[in-house]
Amino acid sequence: MTATVSSERFTDFAAGFPRKLLIDGSWVDAEGATTMPVDNPATGEILASVADASPADGQRALAAAVAAQRSWRRTPPRVRSEILRRAFDLVLSREDDLALLMTLEMGKPLAEARGEVRYAAEFLRWFSEEAVRIDGGYMTAPDGAKRALVLAAPVGPCVLITPWNFPLAMGARKIGPAIAAGCTIVLKPAPQTPLSSLALAAILAEAGLPAGVLNVVTTSRAGEVIEPMLRSGQVRKLSFTGSTNVGKILLAQCGSAVIRTSMELGGNAPFIVFDDADLDIAVDGAMQAKMRNMGEACTGANRFYVHERVAADFSRRLADRMAALRVAPGWEDQAQVGPLIDVVSRDKVDRLVRDAVDRGATVVTGAQVPSGAGYFYPPTVLTGVAAGSEMCGTEIFGPVAAIQTFTDADDVVAMANETPWGLVGYVFTRDLDRAFNVSEDLEVGMVGLNAGIVSDPATPFGGVKESGLGREGGRVGIDEFLEYKLISMPIRR
Ligand code: ADP
Repeated sequence: MTATVSSERFTDFAAGFPRKLLIDGSWVDAEGATTMPVDNPATGEILASVADASPADGQRALAAAVAAQRSWRRTPPRVRSEILRRAFDLVLSREDDLALLMTLEMGKPLAEARGEVRYAAEFLRWFSEEAVRIDGGYMTAPDGAKRALVLAAPVGPCVLITPWNFPLAMGARKIGPAIAAGCTIVLKPAPQTPLSSLALAAILAEAGLPAGVLNVVTTSRAGEVIEPMLRSGQVRKLSFTGSTNVGKILLAQCGSAVIRTSMELGGNAPFIVFDDADLDIAVDGAMQAKMRNMGEACTGANRFYVHERVAADFSRRLADRMAALRVAPGWEDQAQVGPLIDVVSRDKVDRLVRDAVDRGATVVTGAQVPSGAGYFYPPTVLTGVAAGSEMCGTEIFGPVAAIQTFTDADDVVAMANETPWGLVGYVFTRDLDRAFNVSEDLEVGMVGLNAGIVSDPATPFGGVKESGLGREGGRVGIDEFLEYKLISMPIRR
């Protein structure tokens, strides 16, 4: 399939999805009918144009969310629940189209995009179940003279900011609990991948979500649009997934406006293979932890620490598996590795690899930028990576496994913790004591124990240190959108 043929066919396909702003239940142009292009990273061509919101458009979206908050808060939990449940069914029934749309704007292979559609849908189902399980309390004050009623109330209008790497799932993971809790929303998707978010918003409207509850603002001017919203005094909550740098800017803005935050930021995940590990399981886990989403995941294994005794075997087996992967546009049959999101990302990955090689790393496979269209980078395995290499202190965000060796368990935990991030760590061992000790000693929010994937809508996702604040998913996911309200009553006898 040539890029030209695909580009026409796919442009027509993308044109079947919303491309305007969703404000107060209507699809509207941005101020001045301004638009921005969305690229297909497998071809480098423009896939679609979407509305490019101005700060004034952002304020209109926020005004709609604020106006809808009062009635939405009073909408029965069962009604909120059933809207989410219908959206779950609708998302699943559109799996093919949503997956292709995501592949076209983001690059991931269709099989992975389908997996993400189902994963995103599960957040809607999970939070449809949580909407009717919000509870509070009733207690007697210690002096016996008062009764306290504690109500879990929606926090209020929320701004949700999502990244491009999991465009549908990150949207659903934030929108689901906000809706379940009774909050209204302004969603700002990443400019690289707005189409999946707009498609999800259309599905939620079809599922019966009232006008103004979910407003979507696509923009190339994120800072200019978001900052005035946070200053307005009307936003009660920011939930952000993205880079640590932008997260810190937003935390400062929210700090001065006293806005609650949930922050899912960067990672620098260690992947530790002990000499007693089952190497088949460890290599499978490495393929998942490294190659999910072409390595463009904050949970991606960034630093491999492999015990000296098994390092050669592990590296060879991982390199064989990596080299066998088919790199191709995501929509092609059998594609296993799609392009990176843009040329800047690919250049960064290439630069990190060159830096590691300059510092003495050996290329076992990959490391050559291919010629031709699209932002492809080959699956790459490096051994003997020096600890001071730039990639050990930076999120690689690409299909590159950087392997170092170790001999001592305490040393490896210390090395793993030697980073400002703490999202996830992966540990492979068959020794039960070691499994628990290392899991508890790692400074991370999540541990994959003999597992290369940790995310599940039913469990709390999030990090410690500079990887973030708060948790998404699980029983606690909805708490991020609730606040306790006390009703205190003196009781006289
Ligand atoms: P990445 O480098 O992976 O694109 P970013 O942190 O830059 O990660 O982007 C994550 C999300 O944050 C995107 O939706 C992006 O548009 C948004 N964003 C970037 N800068 C700002 C900002 N100053 N204020 C608000 N949102 C921002």
